[in-house]
Amino acid sequence: MNDCIFCKIVKDEIQTNFVVQEADVVAFHDVNPLAPTHILITPKEHIATFLDIKSQHLELILKMITLSQKLIKDYNLGEAYRMVFNGGRYQHVPHLHWHLLADSTSPEALRSKRKVV
Ligand code: AMP
Ligand code: ZN
Repeated sequence: MNDCIFCKIVKDEIQTNFVVQEADVVAFHDVNPLAPTHILITPKEHIATFLDIKSQHLELILKMITLSQKLIKDYNLGEAYRMVFNGGRYQHVPHLHWHLLADSTSPEALRSKRKVV
């Protein structure tokens, strides 16, 4: 999608604070964090919303789950975290993503928070 901000982020056309970039899925820090750790996990492929997930996407969704598990473990967020999909008028960016929110911020997570210009 040409005018999708997350498509531009995953193609490196807009700078952001990536946490992890994999072949098919990426994680980056939310520019407007609502918790000490607030990471967005998204596929590179443009899928608009949760309701647009089809059976052909299940491998991709599994990659998003596996990446999220890795972040929770690597950053020691397991004590208090939540993962959220927004939909309808609560969803502001129409490119599938979920929010990983955690009460703590690990040193590793802090280190990867660079200022976006
Ligand atoms: P949602 O309302 O679920 O679509 O959430 C979209 C999220 O994307 C919001 O929490 C925004 O703060 C975040 N966001 C928007 N633009 C950027 C960006 N360029 N880099 C990082 N996060 C962003
Ligand atoms: Zn997109």
